[in-house]
Amino acid sequence: MADMTSKAAADTPQAAAGTDFLTVFNRYSWEEVQKKIRLKTAQDVLNALQHSRPGLEEFMALLSVAAAGYLEPMARKARQLTVQRFGKTIRLFAPLYLSNKCQNICTYCGFSLDNKIPRKTLTALEVEAEAAILKQYGFDQILLVTGEAAREVNTDYFVRTVRQLKKQFAQISLEVQPLYEHEYKALNEAGAYGITVYQETYHRAAYKQYHLRGRKANFDFRLETAERACRAGIRKIGMGVLLGLQDWRVDSFMTMLHLRFMRHRYWQTGYSLSFPRLRPAAGALSPAFPVSDKELLQLILAYRICDPDLDISLSTRETETFRDHLIGLGITTMSAGSKTNPGGYATDSDSLEQFEISDERSLATICQVIQQAGYDPVFKDWDLALAAGNSDAYF
Ligand code: SF4
Repeated sequence: MADMTSKAAADTPQAAAGTDFLTVFNRYSWEEVQKKIRLKTAQDVLNALQHSRPGLEEFMALLSVAAAGYLEPMARKARQLTVQRFGKTIRLFAPLYLSNKCQNICTYCGFSLDNKIPRKTLTALEVEAEAAILKQYGFDQILLVTGEAAREVNTDYFVRTVRQLKKQFAQISLEVQPLYEHEYKALNEAGAYGITVYQETYHRAAYKQYHLRGRKANFDFRLETAERACRAGIRKIGMGVLLGLQDWRVDSFMTMLHLRFMRHRYWQTGYSLSFPRLRPAAGALSPAFPVSDKELLQLILAYRICDPDLDISLSTRETETFRDHLIGLGITTMSAGSKTNPGGYATDSDSLEQFEISDERSLATICQVIQQAGYDPVFKDWDLALAAGNSDAYF
């Protein structure tokens, strides 16, 4: 493997033209990246903090162990960049779990095929009931989530559901199995706004060990998903890894490499990043590479400093205290009041959830916390609630 610096420098927009991300990714060695991050010094971190346009080298420095001693200046810079780009706002969204059916075996997930649980896919009527509750709360952005069971939960089902919901919600995104380009086109035409697909881990060998059966075992097909969706006209792509499966520093570098490639090639698309940490789920494993709160904070600050325009999202997997402290430190979007089981809001509170959530507070409470931190919670009808002079009326 040749020098990584020259590789990083070569991944400019010009160099990327005519190349797909898989080609760029295959030029990188996991071990080389790991070694480079380990060798970053305090001086590299200080240089990265001074840099006007931090690149991949600077990102490595901010991910390094050496940067753990510089969380204060990193936080100051991240806070200033976030307010400059996004103002003092936190956008709120809710996931709507449509189905827990799945034909894949992933060793970390409660929906895994080998997990003997009652399975459920929402009917159109049940979707309506779930949507009504979310709408009543005031949400205008929803994320439709399913397992990967293409026989039943497929593009036709997604298109029908998006069409059903699009009059009620301003933004509908989907977190479902990777699809083909023509399928993303159909979703786009139906009114879908965004697609989220986590690579889970960019470590090929580890990926194979975690994904034992089903289409998800195809690492390359998953890696190319964001490009297929962008070519089909999808306007927002959600990316990330499942923290805990592998060395978070290297996985995060690979995510940033992927993100930079996407920004260069598909500049008209918006991007968001989430940082799911492996959470307890029925029949699932514990993290082999645990990520502490302090490390997750460092990671979020590093992303904000190196990509000031990035939409950074924090889910209810995280604890109340951690989420409260992160307001103002780089995140721009939060899920709230989440149920991770199909029918969880309205019809079937007992169906199995994908993972246990940690922050179980109501949407009203989370809005209060955001406001107490000096930020505005943003979602549909929030302005109407304020105009009525009683924000609690909505909850
Ligand atoms: S992670 Fe996704 S594909 Fe894997 S078992 Fe869970 S729902 Fe199915």
